[in-house]
Amino acid sequence: MNNCIRRKVCSTLAGLMPCAENLSVLRAKSPSSKRPLPLGEGWGEGLANTARYPAPFFFSFYASRPHPSPLPEGEGNKKPTYRQFLGALGVMLTLALTATAQTPNQKQADKEYEVGAVLWQQSSGEHRALAYQAFALAKLMLDRDLRINRRGKLRRAVVVDVDETILDNSAHEAWLIKNHRSYNPQDWTEWCNRAQAGAVPGAVEFLRYANSRGVRVFYITNRKEVEKDGTARNLKQLGFPEVNDETLLVRTDKDSSSKEPRRLAVGAKYHVVLLMGDDLNDFAEVFEQSKTAVNRIEAVERNRDQFGAHFIVLPNPMYGHWEDAIYGSNSKLTEEEKAAKRREQLKAN
Ligand SMILES: [Mg+2]
Repeated sequence: MNNCIRRKVCSTLAGLMPCAENLSVLRAKSPSSKRPLPLGEGWGEGLANTARYPAPFFFSFYASRPHPSPLPEGEGNKKPTYRQFLGALGVMLTLALTATAQTPNQKQADKEYEVGAVLWQQSSGEHRALAYQAFALAKLMLDRDLRINRRGKLRRAVVVDVDETILDNSAHEAWLIKNHRSYNPQDWTEWCNRAQAGAVPGAVEFLRYANSRGVRVFYITNRKEVEKDGTARNLKQLGFPEVNDETLLVRTDKDSSSKEPRRLAVGAKYHVVLLMGDDLNDFAEVFEQSKTAVNRIEAVERNRDQFGAHFIVLPNPMYGHWEDAIYGSNSKLTEEEKAAKRREQLKAN
């Protein structure tokens, strides 16, 4: 009799296993998801679904309940009872489903250390206040130039970086954290072309003001050619002025991310009143060439008079060349090695 029950339970569970696996897969491919899920995404959600999936827990629960008619002693003590067998199968099925969901996650990035930075950018009044402060200072300096440099022959220009200077990509950073994913170009391009970044507070107003005063706005970004249309669409939707092929200067050199050639090209034709960015590399070649944290700080010290006058910095605690410097500009480090470098460079007393 027991063998008969075992065979029935086994065949039932064998039928359930593929169904349970399919649940995770279907979830990962869900068309209702806002974004097409790249390879790997959805496994975390699959794991969460496993926790909600009732089958193994039903068996465990059922097996743990007091049986209404206890089996006779003797044989039941020596051989697995129906309840014990169901309980064991329930545990095995739970483990199997969990393993199915976890396997692709084993190399997921630990992004926990970035949570504070993203929360600060998204939720703090301080971030918003600093952004307003930066653009208020930019307006002061622009007005000053309009007032005192009246005889210049070149048209004025303001050069701005895009990411974390006028566009807020913290939603993408948050998505990476929630999906245990490191930055990668595929996800980034997809994000850029969705054109859903928000505007950094004060950015639209300042650049529209500059434009209204006859100042040309240049957007110099290291977003790539393939991301240009999405970027232009995003900027236009938010109301940024004069976004076109002449003013939106994306990265076209595969071998170099330096913005210096683009800055020089603008500077050859315009009187550049201000450069605005969230990364020192947005301002001058000297910073681009400073690869260590110490060198970058020294470069700031040597050029300190430029900050607040010609260079205006926006806050970005989430990423940047400051972080690359901590990793020795080595993009091949594993997540564990990066974590070790971060710890190494903490200054503590
Ligand atoms: Mg930037």
